[in-house]
Order: sequence, then C-alpha cells, then structure tokens
Amino acid sequence: MSNYDPYEHALLWTCKHCGFMYVGGQPKMECPVCESYKTSFIDLPQHIEAQVREEFPDNPHNHRDNRARRVELIGEHNVLEKNRVSGRVLPAASGNNMNPSKDL
Ligand SMILES: [Zn+2]
Repeated sequence: MSNYDPYEHALLWTCKHCGFMYVGGQPKMECPVCESYKTSFIDLPQHIEAQVREEFPDNPHNHRDNRARRVELIGEHNVLEKNRVSGRVLPAASGNNMNPSKDL
C-alpha cells in the first residue's frame, strides 16, 4: 500500500450531470455513468469533495449518494459559474487505461 492519496494531489474531474468523479486521471470521451460527453466534466473544488467525504465517510468515491451530493453541491456553490470565470477547462482527453467501473 502506498500512502499516496490522489485526492490530495490530483484534479477532481467530475461529471456535472451525474456527479461521477475520476480521481487522478482524465475523463475518456464519455461519462461512464450517464454518457455525457467529456466536456461535461469540471474540476470539482477540493472543499466540495471534502464535504461529500465528510458526509459519506464509508462510501466509495462514486457511490450513488456521493454522486448525487456532488451534483447538489455543484449547484449550491455555483461551481459552474465560478469554473467559467477561473477558466479552468478540461484538457483534451488522452488515452488512458483507467477503469472507473471498479469504483461503482
Ligand atoms: Zn455523468
């Protein structure tokens, strides 16, 4: 086991429609949960993910409750508007071999 916690170091690419989150990688062409195109992914602010994990400490990252809560918080915190202002946009998805389904 490594002590590396990708949550501390990586962007938190999150689907704004369903709340699915990639940890430590970039989205593929489509969200594996809701099939939204990759441009639906935003970089979720760390404090929002911290709140989700505080509320569901025992869930895997992409448990349906976590995903639903992310979508709620994205709305409550007006993240989409702020994301646009900060200009943090999704880099072009590159090929990777992540398998997000194991987290579901
Ligand atoms: Zn999605």
